[in-house]
Amino acid sequence: MVRENSCSPKCNSADIIIFNNKYENLIFCRNCSLLKKKDLENHKDRVLALDKFNKDVKQIIETDYYKKQISENRSIIKKILRITKKNPTKILDYGCGYGSFVFAGKELGFTTSGYDINKNFTENLSHYFETFKSENALLNDNNLGKYDLIFCRKVLTLSSNIYKDFSNFNDLLSSSGCLVVMDQVKNISKYKTIITLDNNNTLLLTIEALKFYANIFKLSTKYLKNDFGDMFIIFERNNKKYLNDKISIKTLENLEKLNFIFLFLSKIKKLSKKIYYGFKS
Ligand SMILES: [Zn+2]
Repeated sequence: MVRENSCSPKCNSADIIIFNNKYENLIFCRNCSLLKKKDLENHKDRVLALDKFNKDVKQIIETDYYKKQISENRSIIKKILRITKKNPTKILDYGCGYGSFVFAGKELGFTTSGYDINKNFTENLSHYFETFKSENALLNDNNLGKYDLIFCRKVLTLSSNIYKDFSNFNDLLSSSGCLVVMDQVKNISKYKTIITLDNNNTLLLTIEALKFYANIFKLSTKYLKNDFGDMFIIFERNNKKYLNDKISIKTLENLEKLNFIFLFLSKIKKLSKKIYYGFKS
């Protein structure tokens, strides 16, 4: 049982320190390197009510922007298949939002389902593909151990219980299944975070924290790419446990101060890519 304010069964109260970001007291755990807001259940309701998650689904999926997102997701799926060298039978989008990843999976011929805590998505999208409207519905006997690929993008920084999310991944993944997480992390990041901002995120992710939670469930890193804070990571099952790296709150604060340098470097990188491909074409 995870106690209030404790992050995982592997962490205890001696690991917890309070960090004030000038708006509120946040909780930092020195064991799992997670920085999070208090009262995460209240934040969950706030996140559910956000305008951007409550637009008309039918209208959104007709837009050109949405069609571009489907195409981007098709490329992401192809990249995952290239790296994992596996052909998934069942795919789950954990936190499917407006569903562009699920549509992309379907277009590529995969059985793809979507789960989200927001019913605006799962109820309106159930006309197009299989959706799960609650955690209980998702964790049914037919789904346990059945997913070869779980995709989780821009979900965990809004999570109210990351330990439970990883526990769900573990319950749902097949024996040779892969978990793909795409999200913002603080390592070498161009983004500002809850260390200095009062934004809607419930927690701050780091590579260290993601690996910590994966490690609890014997998931290890198959592939990792951090593009100035935009993280793409593939976990696969592996029976070996490893020693976790940790990151201190002081380091996180220092990285936050340096974000403008990483932003500058990322712009240079984008520009050089443009010039390079400009010359090539
Ligand atoms: Zn912890």
